[in-house]
Amino acid sequence: MATKKLCVLGSTGSIGTQTLSLVEQLDIEITTLSGYRNVRLLEEQALRFKPKYLLTPDEDAAGDLKIRLAHTPVKVLGGADALRETVAVDGSDTVLTSVVGVAGLRPTVAAIEAGKTIALANKETLVAAGRLVTGLAAAHGVRLLPVDSEHSAIFQCLQDSHSARRLRRIFLTASGGPFFGKSRAELVNVTLADALHHPNWSMGKKITVDSATLMNKGLELIEAMWLFGLPPEKVEITVHRQSILHSAVEFEDNSVLAQLGVPDMRIPIQYALTYPDRKPNPVEPLSIERMANLTFERPDEETFVCLAACKQAAARGGIVPCIANAANEKAVELYLAGRIGFLQIGEAVMRAVKDAPDVADYTLNDLFAADEETRAKTAAFLQS
Ligand code: MG
Repeated sequence: MATKKLCVLGSTGSIGTQTLSLVEQLDIEITTLSGYRNVRLLEEQALRFKPKYLLTPDEDAAGDLKIRLAHTPVKVLGGADALRETVAVDGSDTVLTSVVGVAGLRPTVAAIEAGKTIALANKETLVAAGRLVTGLAAAHGVRLLPVDSEHSAIFQCLQDSHSARRLRRIFLTASGGPFFGKSRAELVNVTLADALHHPNWSMGKKITVDSATLMNKGLELIEAMWLFGLPPEKVEITVHRQSILHSAVEFEDNSVLAQLGVPDMRIPIQYALTYPDRKPNPVEPLSIERMANLTFERPDEETFVCLAACKQAAARGGIVPCIANAANEKAVELYLAGRIGFLQIGEAVMRAVKDAPDVADYTLNDLFAADEETRAKTAAFLQS
């Protein structure tokens, strides 16, 4: 098989670094890397993986990297449009999108329009623009391969095309995060350090906070609807504290298939990179001991209102999920900056969903406008 040529958007983040830890043994050539301001890591990655292009939206970081890499053939490009413009022409056949937040939307659209396979690690793209992105992917004959562990699990369970047509329901598992079982009163004074301490997964800050609020599961519900073509009532969310069973699917004959493994993102990342093949992986195998005592419970949507808000957004559709996501991105930014309390994240998301208009038809630019307006409104609401 020809060497895969991979562009990694968001190479300095958790998914990006784990992806790069796998590519050498998978015989994958890196065409492009992109990051934000982590200049030292970008330099190190550029020297090791020798991409054609190194991108950052930050002009200062780009200037710095141009000097550091002047002795190499790596082309450093900076500015807001660098990702979108380069991803189409960099010679890659697959683009792994692990940029955080709705910022991943424009480069993902550009990659789809250029006919690239998408290894999708940026769930906000499908949450905000699921109809447009899946429509565009179908029009260009482009595959969206899920990297999110739950969605990879579902995708792996649906590889038999006959079964895929007989899918009735999805069991989307949630770890419950660090605050599972706590009441609202107990969550008033939790600290940022508590929220950033995830019991099972090691991830970036934004998604770790999203896991603590259960917003992450709400976003994943909407992501699953678009990836697998199901209405929200056919996605059952279940809290599974051990993060060993990564999700399951139920067929019309009441048979249920699940995918299991230790909680390590290198398994779903690698499956998206080797699909439809499988290859050996450095992750530890699942032991019988770790499969003992697997538990499943219903989530508490009254305490974790982000999940309830996302369900409402999913049922209403239109631009409501985009608005829910924008409110969350702004609220998490303020929370990480120490400006608001933990429970205010859920209040902001629920308020944004309640205020959101029902719009039947919309363009990508309408979504960006709604995103920007929601961020401004959310900041004003939270800091008033
Ligand atoms: Mg996930």
